[in-house]
Amino acid sequence: MNNFFKSKEVFDKSCKLMPGGVNSPVRAYRSVGLVPPVVKKGKGSRIFDLDGNEYIDYVCSWGPMILGHAHPQVIGAIKAAAENGTSFGAPTENELLLAELISDAIPSMEMLRLVSSGTEAAMSAIRAARGYTGRDLVVKFEGCYHGHSDGLLVKAGSGALTAGVPDSAGIPADYSKNTIVAEYNNIEGLEQLFKNAGNNIAAVIIEPVAANMGLVLPETDFLKELRSLTGRYGSLLIFDEVITGFRMAYGGAQELFGIKPDLTVLGKIIGGGMPVGAYGGRREIMEKVAPLGPVYQAGTLSGNPVAVAAGISTLSIIKNTEDFYRRLDQLGQSLQEAYEQAASSCGIDITINRLGSLMSVFFTGQRVADYDTALKSDLNRFKKYFSLMLEEGIYIAPSQFEALFISYSHTEADMEKTRAAIKKVFSR
Ligand code: PMP
Repeated sequence: MNNFFKSKEVFDKSCKLMPGGVNSPVRAYRSVGLVPPVVKKGKGSRIFDLDGNEYIDYVCSWGPMILGHAHPQVIGAIKAAAENGTSFGAPTENELLLAELISDAIPSMEMLRLVSSGTEAAMSAIRAARGYTGRDLVVKFEGCYHGHSDGLLVKAGSGALTAGVPDSAGIPADYSKNTIVAEYNNIEGLEQLFKNAGNNIAAVIIEPVAANMGLVLPETDFLKELRSLTGRYGSLLIFDEVITGFRMAYGGAQELFGIKPDLTVLGKIIGGGMPVGAYGGRREIMEKVAPLGPVYQAGTLSGNPVAVAAGISTLSIIKNTEDFYRRLDQLGQSLQEAYEQAASSCGIDITINRLGSLMSVFFTGQRVADYDTALKSDLNRFKKYFSLMLEEGIYIAPSQFEALFISYSHTEADMEKTRAAIKKVFSR
């Protein structure tokens, strides 16, 4: 690596003006005790900081850059849309095109609405579920993150977990009293919970593959049993596919596991790096949303024409690339093997959870299947590993509790370099 002067200079100034110097906490590198590289530009699998350091990017903007940075077709679509005006607050044809692409890919989304972030999408889906069922209680899982809206910021994983604040200050107890927290992968616990309160539960919201306590996979039949349990009590099942949507498979985790939720929450990839989210599901539920029904939800920039153009372009490329998910899986497999070999030859305990192009390397020898087992990881070891990887030009999330993202633009040469870095870092 070259020097780090310019990043430090800019970041120091940012710290005076923005909390932690950032606009989203995990970027501040607090838990790893470093100054974050200040990013200047990205191209394909690489990002470059202000000092000219180059990194292979395994954060991919936390998921959306599944095609890599500055994909020429996506940038072309953004430029073309911008030439025609950047916002109208009125219907456009492209909104319909994106909605059609989404609903075709995820048929459970019979009707949907576009918003501008995953937070908004999850918050609005919960509101629709409550409006439809006339019930107040919502169940979420420990370590699952659904954005930072008041009622959902309870044991929320992700940046909150990294910063050690699983429950945020500033939320009146009354707001979260309608949120019940359950254990991921524990169906018996859920059955008991439903026995006690099932008839008052509007919805269960879940990341079908949890990616905000590090990657945690659902155990066999967990999602199936959850589907049947919610159905029995007339509660809605909401899949938060902000990370898994268009990443696990074109139809998201629901396609992969063959489960049909009542509502789905999307973000990230559907905006191709621009701010877009969406929520939608069964028609009769979505018909409760204003102006058709009494559930109010709105947004001046919702369906923004430039953002929507990036989304259409991104989804179309994925759809038309035949080996898309197979190749992503192969890249994931190759990294997983590199970690396993390095760990075993250096005698370091790790557990790898991976599904396709999403994975987490936990510094523990134990199985990681929920929030408590994720917390067993050796965070000091993670911290050391992280800083050495950064020195080698490998840019991963600065937290044990986030996933590693691979994009279609990662090349065999990137893999080669990453494998060598893993080997070197583990032996150090
Ligand atoms: N749901 C999940 C599963 C997420 O991972 C995230 C963000 N990482 C969100 C919701 C919130 O999305 P946003 O940051 O776009 O508000």
